[in-house]
Amino acid sequence: MPELPEVEVVRRGLERWVDGRTVGEVEVLHPRAVRRHPAGGADFAARLTGHRLGTARRRGKYLWIPLADSGFSVLGHLGMSGQLLVQPENAPDEKHLRIRVRFDDALGTELRFVDQRTFGGLSLHDNTPDGLPDVIAHIARDPLDPEFDDAAFQAALRLRRTTVKRALLDQSLISGVGNIYADEALWRARLHYDRPTASLTRPRSAELLGHVRDVMNAALAAGGTSFDSLYVNVNGESGYFDRSLDAYGREDEPCRRCGTPMRRRPWMNRSSYFCPRCQRPPRAAAPVGVRV
Ligand SMILES: [Zn+2]
Repeated sequence: MPELPEVEVVRRGLERWVDGRTVGEVEVLHPRAVRRHPAGGADFAARLTGHRLGTARRRGKYLWIPLADSGFSVLGHLGMSGQLLVQPENAPDEKHLRIRVRFDDALGTELRFVDQRTFGGLSLHDNTPDGLPDVIAHIARDPLDPEFDDAAFQAALRLRRTTVKRALLDQSLISGVGNIYADEALWRARLHYDRPTASLTRPRSAELLGHVRDVMNAALAAGGTSFDSLYVNVNGESGYFDRSLDAYGREDEPCRRCGTPMRRRPWMNRSSYFCPRCQRPPRAAAPVGVRV
């Protein structure tokens, strides 16, 4: 499942390769890939054709291309296996090609949405006054957004009766942090995933936020994480940040800080990876609100 850094890599690819190009023709090859566009594939194709694409934008894991000459956007859902590829027009079709966008220019490339499992897709949505597709208006800013409000986030953490990993994955509080980078940031911050957020001091929550940003920036610099050969960026190149993960996927391997075997625990239908020595579970007996 792509997380923020992977989606940002795709966004940069779109910015580089399709910005300002006018859509000449759209082919929807599988109805599931436009199921979030209720009016259907023919409507999707007709409404997109003739419009000029603006600069691709991202909030958290959501990616969209505003249409430069209208009040709506193409929202991309990468799902588990979705890829947006810019390919030469004469390149053979991918086996799981779902949507093709040809352009009204002589650059010789086209945009393809390829998705083996077809959990992802493309859809058209009206924009809010802030320029977001209306269906994602509730998504909070992500920590790499220059307008992310650190103080408000820290205050919200102290007020909420929740645990730290749940808070990091709450897209209405902070967007773009998924399971992988939550585990990485918590390992760096030496915090157990079940630690109550109300127990975090201001310096601890500031430190955690710093680690969230560091781990995401490191992943971005490496071109995103890839666990799945299906994930490639807009040019078809796999990310390779998985080589430098410290926590996620490292069950029974030694903690890179203290050597203790890392553990994996089931967590909300997923897994949490942590070092039992560096990331001590919260003391069950500690009264709520006591800062430790
Ligand atoms: Zn450790």
